Amino acid sequence: MALIISKLLRAGPYAQHATLRALSMRLRLCYAHAMSARSAHKEPLAAPFPMLMNLLALDLESAERLVRDLGWPRYRAQQIFRWLYRGRVRDIEQMTDLSQAERAQLRTIATIGRFQDCRIVKSTDGTRKFLIRLEDDLIVESVLIPEDGWLTLCLSSQVGCTLDCGFCLTGRMGLKRNLKAYEIVDQVLTIQDRLEPGETLTNLVLMGMGEPLANLDAVTEAVVRLTNSHWGVGIPARRITLSTAGLAPRLKDVAALGVNLAVSLNATTNAQRDQLMPAINRLHPLNTLLAACRAYLLPPRRRLTFEYVLLAGVNDTEQDARRLTKLLSGMRCKVNLIPFNEFNGSGFQRPDDDTVLRFQSVLRRAGFHAFIRKSKGRDVLGACGQLGRLPESREPAILTPVGAGC
Ligand code: SAH
Repeated sequence: MALIISKLLRAGPYAQHATLRALSMRLRLCYAHAMSARSAHKEPLAAPFPMLMNLLALDLESAERLVRDLGWPRYRAQQIFRWLYRGRVRDIEQMTDLSQAERAQLRTIATIGRFQDCRIVKSTDGTRKFLIRLEDDLIVESVLIPEDGWLTLCLSSQVGCTLDCGFCLTGRMGLKRNLKAYEIVDQVLTIQDRLEPGETLTNLVLMGMGEPLANLDAVTEAVVRLTNSHWGVGIPARRITLSTAGLAPRLKDVAALGVNLAVSLNATTNAQRDQLMPAINRLHPLNTLLAACRAYLLPPRRRLTFEYVLLAGVNDTEQDARRLTKLLSGMRCKVNLIPFNEFNGSGFQRPDDDTVLRFQSVLRRAGFHAFIRKSKGRDVLGACGQLGRLPESREPAILTPVGAGC
């Protein structure tokens, strides 16, 4: 013990944290063993340690370590994960293929820390926005978008955002914090629990609050849990799209995940992009970003998506459209045009429909697949770039809660 303490005092803060966590896990395991021995003699259980570990916070490797330390067979880890991600259980007691003694043992050291509180607001077009309260009382937003037989869930990866894109409300909030992997996954679990009869999620897009590639480790782990077809949620990677403002060196990590990549270009010159997306364009200017896109290893039959927010009088002229065709020439890609979704105090305006159509037709004439994204959920501030709240703002009056509780 003295050795551990002296090592701890010399270690840096990260190592201290990790060692303390490992130590507390060991203590809890000893406790679980003692408890299971006692329960065999039918003695009443004393109150467990107040800090239970959250099973959702474990990756598969840590779960396998846990079951090994409990003296259980290794496959128990996947069995537990199936209950968490397929069964969406909220109580260890519901894991009915563990024996009662095993469940009791697990409950002395662990819990399932699912979200407790969410509010749903519904748009007149059927879009539903979920406002989910996190452990530290921050609110994260996810948006469910039904359209033409698809049901797409837009997930957040951060509370607020690392970046400062001028046309995005989330960017105005600043970064509150990164979401943990389980907080990204729990958005899916929570919303699956709240689907209406007959509804099934068909697609996931990481296009909500935050810059996913600025929280790459958590996003990677979340994608693993969401896509695994044995013990995970089981959503195929090809049905997931990750959208980035352009963290160029990290694009290759998206290819490794097997999900689709969307890049928010939004400008056709460095001067324009510096003005609209200053932080990211300073880090990775247009030419660096486009070089990374050209080097991106696209699986067969897939296309890169480029998103382009159309801002009236700023980047929506035919000249902009022609420059865009030059920048993207020869790339296997499609372009999603997103007419600006307004919010108070943005300083930008949405272009009129004719301007948007003219922009699209320049791209189409040059042979590009160009689509105009329908802006769904605008009345509940649930459309692209409308998630989050300014520090001083009160809840907009247009939000009509339709449900509460997770
Ligand atoms: N940070 C990531 C994902 C979040 S934003 C990214 O930048 O890609 C998701 C998409 O919404 C991006 O394409 C972004 O350019 C767009 N967007 C942001 N604010 C918008 C607004 N007010 N109106 C329309 N689109 C917006």
